This record gives sequence, C-alpha cells and structure tokens, in this order.
Amino acid sequence: MKINTNFENLKENYLFATIAERVAKHKADNPMKNIIRLGIGDVTLPLSRTVVNAMKKAADEMGDKPTFRGYGEYRGYDFLQNAIARYYAKNGVTLVRDEIFVSDGAKSDAGNFLDIFDKSNIVLNPDPVYPVYVDSNIMAGRKIIFTNGNESNGFLPMPCAKTRADIIYICSPNNPTGAVYTRDALRAWVDYANEQNALIIFDSAYEAFISDDNLPRSIFEIDGARTCAVEIGSLSKTAGFTGTRCGYTIVPMELMAGKHSINKLWYRRQATKFNGVSYVIQRGAEAVFTDEGLSECKANIDYYMGNARILCDALTSMGISHTGGTNSPYVWLRCPNGLGSWEFFDKLLNEANLVGTPGAGFGKMGEGYFRLTAFGSREDVIEAVDRLSKLK
Ligand code: PLP
Repeated sequence: MKINTNFENLKENYLFATIAERVAKHKADNPMKNIIRLGIGDVTLPLSRTVVNAMKKAADEMGDKPTFRGYGEYRGYDFLQNAIARYYAKNGVTLVRDEIFVSDGAKSDAGNFLDIFDKSNIVLNPDPVYPVYVDSNIMAGRKIIFTNGNESNGFLPMPCAKTRADIIYICSPNNPTGAVYTRDALRAWVDYANEQNALIIFDSAYEAFISDDNLPRSIFEIDGARTCAVEIGSLSKTAGFTGTRCGYTIVPMELMAGKHSINKLWYRRQATKFNGVSYVIQRGAEAVFTDEGLSECKANIDYYMGNARILCDALTSMGISHTGGTNSPYVWLRCPNGLGSWEFFDKLLNEANLVGTPGAGFGKMGEGYFRLTAFGSREDVIEAVDRLSKLK
C-alpha cells in the first residue's frame, strides 16, 4: 500500500491541536489556576427548547413502526429543504428545493465539494484563512494561491484581474478576522468569478451574526451569483449545533462547468459517498427555522454578541487595534507592543491564564494578530477583560 503523499505537505499538527497541547501542559504545571478559554470557536449555550422538543418527538417517531424511517433522501428531507428555502426567501433569495443539499456541517462540504473538480484547478484563498480550505486542498494536491488581507483593506481582499483562479473560497462574516464583505465588494467577486469562469465557494457559517441589514447574508443576494457560486451554510453557530451536526450546501441549477451541471455532479457524489443526516437531527434543524426557533436562537446570538461588545470596548479602551465583533462573534486584534502571535499567546496563557488563538495559525498575514471569540460565558468574558487590562 502507498499513502497519499500530499499528506506529507501538511503541517504536522492542526492549529487547535497545537493550542490544546500547550494549554494542557500549562494546566499540568499550574493545576490551581483557572484558565479561561476564548480560543476555539465552539458554542457554550445549550440547544433551544423548540429544537430539543422537535428532536424528542422525532426520536419517538423512530421508535414506532408506522412512523419509523430508514435511509432518507440524499439531498435531505423535503421538510428541511423547504424550511431552508423559506429562510432564504426572507432575504429575497429564491431557491428551488433540489438546490439545497442537507449536510452534516459546513466543514465536511468545504473540503468534499472539491471531489467533483480536477486536481489541476488553481484554488484562491484569502489569507488569513479558515485552515480547512487550505488543508483539504493540500490533501488533494491542488495548487493554492493567496490573496492578502491586511489592515489597509480591512482584512477583506478584493479580486485582482491579473490573478488566474478556478476555485475561490470566500468566508463572510470571516473566520478568523470577523470582517464582513459589503454588497458592492461581493459583486466585484461575483463579476470576477463569472469573467474567469471560476467557482466561488461561499461560506456563510456566521451569517446569523449579521445585524446590519445593509450587509449581505448570502452570496445569492448578488446578481450573477447563481452562475458562479455555491454556498455552504451551517447550524453550528446559528443554533448551537456544533455537537448536533447539521448544515447545508446550496448548488444553483444554472451553475455549469462546461457541459456539466454542478448540481448533478454534486448529487452524484453525495449519492455515492454520503447517506444523509439522521431524521431526528433534520427535525431539530427544521425547528430552528420556525418563528420560535429563530427567536430562541437569536437570543443566544445576542448573548454572544454582548460578549463581543465587552471584548471590543475593552480593547478600544486599552488602545489595541481590532476588527470584527460587530457582525461576527470573532474579534481580531493586533498583538500589543509588536509581539508575534505565538509570543502573545504564551504571554496571555502564562501571565493571565487566558487562551486565545494566534493569528499566525490562519496564515502568514495573521502573524502579529490574535483571535478572541465571543462564545464563552458572560462571567468568563468579564473576568478575561479584567485580566487583560492588568497585563503588563
Ligand atoms: N466554516 C467556518 C468558517 C467555520 O469557522 C467553521 C467552524 O468553526 C465551520 C465552517 C464548520 O462548521 P460546521 O460545524 O458546520 O462543520
């Protein structure tokens, strides 16, 4: 047997595994210290009542012969596809049911979608970047090029007509920087992709955190996107599904690669390699999109955004430059006193028992920056801000 030697091109450790190792060592050396984690992007509030009740009811149905269900549809149950289509319609986006593929989360599809594309395609990624877009393409042996985010472009790189790319990842609101593309900026990307005959993989995992109505929540709010984009959505942060697992990918019927329908190719791929998300979880996901579900999820998001505000206010008063935290649960800050990302990580951990995520873990443009998340408890965030303000 021979391994896929592309794996040799990956960095040895996934970013969060490296962080976990350093934190574990610090904890072992300082067992009495209370470590506050503002690093990993996992939610802490429980599922909403409406979602839990829907899943309980579905579990009962599975235990009764007349309502028991076996394998579901490859694209997901129609009740969930319809619920997602209604959710999009609220933002003026019309979707046909078969354009919606229910998934077990955005991470799987962000990597798997490339299964239907040749290895020779050039992949354009922003830098800083959610590592999955990079590592999954390294595994596949694709050439990856980067477009730089920095303070002068607000960490929102724009297309450059001279750059040739076949597949473009865009994440807005962005992980890790919290920056959000405007409609005009997304239109420029859509025009660029249509001109280049390229595909945009738009990751909208954090759309529910947008409170500014002028900002687009979906790439399909932009004219022309249906011929150049797919959108990957997730209930992980919207509804606390990180451990429950459900998301979706939208593949417009108009989207073609030469004579091939991308929707048909993705269906073919899913039907071969994926047997769907469980009925119980899909019923829970359907409940997210009810009026009660949406308002309960919004209450949790408001809580997290209250945390984000506390973090941003504290950074502002300390004179630390930062982005994000207003339409996104991520706060991206410049490490104080010119420290490198991992230097600041160690300083925070050793002197304040605080864990964040070094920006350098998201690409070379992240060096000198640091990511905090708003997903902790209010008490922890208040304590974290106090410890930050006392740092020498
Ligand atoms: N996309 C982005 C940008 C993320 O930050 C994350 C999780 O942190 C995901 C996707 C993963 O989402 P899911 O839990 O649905 O796999």
